[in-house]
Amino acid sequence: MRRGPRRAFPALSLALSLLLTALSGCSAAPAQTATIFAMDTVMELTAYGERRCVDEAVSAVYEAEDRFSVTDPDSDVARLNASGGGAVSGDTQALLERALELCALTDGALDITVYPLVRAWGFTTGQYRVPGGGELAGLLEKTGYDRVRLEDGTVSLPEGSLLDLGAVAKGWTADCIAGIWREAGVKSGLINLGGNVMTVGAKPDGSDWTVGIRDPFSQELMGAVRVRDAAVVTSGGYQRYFEEDGVRYCHIIDPKTGRPADSGLASVTVTGAEGVLCDGLSTAVYVLGLEGAKALWRENGGFELVLVTEERKVYITEGLEGVFTPEGSYQSTEIKVIRRG
Ligand code: ADP
Ligand code: MG
Repeated sequence: MRRGPRRAFPALSLALSLLLTALSGCSAAPAQTATIFAMDTVMELTAYGERRCVDEAVSAVYEAEDRFSVTDPDSDVARLNASGGGAVSGDTQALLERALELCALTDGALDITVYPLVRAWGFTTGQYRVPGGGELAGLLEKTGYDRVRLEDGTVSLPEGSLLDLGAVAKGWTADCIAGIWREAGVKSGLINLGGNVMTVGAKPDGSDWTVGIRDPFSQELMGAVRVRDAAVVTSGGYQRYFEEDGVRYCHIIDPKTGRPADSGLASVTVTGAEGVLCDGLSTAVYVLGLEGAKALWRENGGFELVLVTEERKVYITEGLEGVFTPEGSYQSTEIKVIRRG
């Protein structure tokens, strides 16, 4: 079932496309594009290929939204939440399996059962509030990805436990679209799901895509990375938050405390070949903080990081040396490099 009209947001999308094209310098080669509003964000799809590639990508986005939206009562996720589990198949099963692996990889900094907490803080309704300690303690008892069972295509959730795939759904969807495009022979494409970016191939002129990273403290860019066939995903407290009594509360919850993450990082950008990994890890690393990020990166492969701390310090992992370029006021900032050994 579809929810409400699907709208296009020309002004916003123009801003987004300017951000990307200004940096990527897209040539005048014929591009197929679509701008849609889905998953609560403006999305821009650009493929250098046949029109049907973009149309199929748009369908893939709506299909993912129909499966994964936690607020649409007809979605697969809402159905599982309403019944404490049930049968799953296809993409829902595959994403749940991958998401649970990422929860374990991050030792629960990513936790797809965090929804009772997200809801209590008002992030799904917009009716923001600061829950009391007793309420949070009660809700924490209902969370824990390790209590979700997924066997033979059947999910079972403990009493009161609710799934939320919001931290990984866009990355997963970007992977799906990239797969569709590669199969269709698209050599060049840009998928921007509200700042959750995936590049397919190189730019039409054969050079790398350049993807901008926003400064968490202003509307400007803090830097850019040059990539091809890679996702670039940023999570930050500045993206969605509310303020009460001078305190800022962001939409990423630390599953250990039940409170908005407050790890000292202002933004986390993750780049790598797999969109869902980058999406899940951007959320998790924002919770883990600088030291946790270093450890996670040293123990695992497949991704690189750009971290901006609340003190405006910048860290990159060594794979991004020569790939990351600071922009604007960050050109005079020392860039610290996190190394393996
Ligand atoms: P966005 O989707 O806004 O770009 P993220 O990918 O970081 O940002 O996902 C944040 C969303 O994931 C929140 O809106 C919430 O629904 C959910 N969430 C919040 N904290 C966590 C967490 N620690 N683990 C898993 N999901 C989370
Ligand atoms: Mg994420």
